[in-house]
Amino acid sequence: MKVLITGVTGQDGSLMADYLLENTDLDIVGGVRRLSVPNHSNISHLKDNPRFRLINLDVTDPESVSYAVKSEKPEFYINFAANSFVGTSWEMPVNHFQTNTFSVLYSLEAIRKHSPATRFYSAGSSEQFGDVDYAPQDINHPFKPRSPYGASKCAAHHLVKVYRESYALYAVQGILFNHEGIRRGEEFVTRKITKSVARIKKAMDSDQPFEPLVLGNLDSKRDWSDAEDFVRGIWQMLNRSMPKDFVLASNECHSIRDFVNLSFKTLGIEGVWSGEGLNETLKDEEGRVLVQVSEKFFRPAEVDLLMGDNVEALNDLGWELKTSFEDLVKKMTEYDYNQA
Ligand code: GDP
Repeated sequence: MKVLITGVTGQDGSLMADYLLENTDLDIVGGVRRLSVPNHSNISHLKDNPRFRLINLDVTDPESVSYAVKSEKPEFYINFAANSFVGTSWEMPVNHFQTNTFSVLYSLEAIRKHSPATRFYSAGSSEQFGDVDYAPQDINHPFKPRSPYGASKCAAHHLVKVYRESYALYAVQGILFNHEGIRRGEEFVTRKITKSVARIKKAMDSDQPFEPLVLGNLDSKRDWSDAEDFVRGIWQMLNRSMPKDFVLASNECHSIRDFVNLSFKTLGIEGVWSGEGLNETLKDEEGRVLVQVSEKFFRPAEVDLLMGDNVEALNDLGWELKTSFEDLVKKMTEYDYNQA
């Protein structure tokens, strides 16, 4: 029995590999795209594990996807490979559709033709809800994406549904709200904050000057959870008697400002906010600027509030959230401080 994981070098893929190696007897086949400078830091601890191996797989190449599915015929295919950064999706919209939408179509086609018993998971996103009508958003909330990224994930959602209904495949899309941790990329605001807070605290420890953390929209609100909780939920979605899409979320939301405050507080720094808009700053008691705002990090269109409804996942899947928002911020900040 084996599971094919694309995007295995990323946050979710590597956490899923760790989870399955620890909690199941499955072998893990990680699909990776050849890069001139490979980035395998999230899976380096698995390289000598006899139940873990890598194959060449580029999800934007239909031949490559088809070959992998045909030759491996995995029991499960978990597709995490994506261009997952909303901010760049205006700069490379076609790439987002190739990586996030066509890849899903190629996978579904390959499964239909070569391995129809394979259970398929497609990584959806709360960005599909976009310009939201109500909160918390559940699986019935309309799709109103606000970015090329969000639109690419909506299209993938519809493809999964069409293939599930047309060919009776076990294919599901999990609509996952923001999920973070110590393997999160630094382009995402949470990790950018915790890395900078750690850097600033280290500088303070040794009486050195420091550059402030520069952010964009401090008012937007997100529903953040621990990615480790989410890989468990995804596995539960893949092991239900019938395929069904679910929302994974924490049912809570916090502003970027809240995240910043909590991260500084974790390392014993209390700041005071003043000013408005682009002139807003956070300063410490000595008047040193900890945070400032720049237009550079604002987006052409913003999703102001994302907050997911996890009731169905809790009741139907028996899913559990083990890490609170406060513990997540603390964990990421302390880790980055110890690494800095
Ligand atoms: P997303 O929800 O998938 O887009 O995750 P991000 O972590 O990239 O962004 C979350 C929110 O933080 C968005 O509303 C951004 O506009 C806001 N934000 C504010 N400042 C920054 C920043 O400097 N970088 C990023 N990535 N986001 C920022």
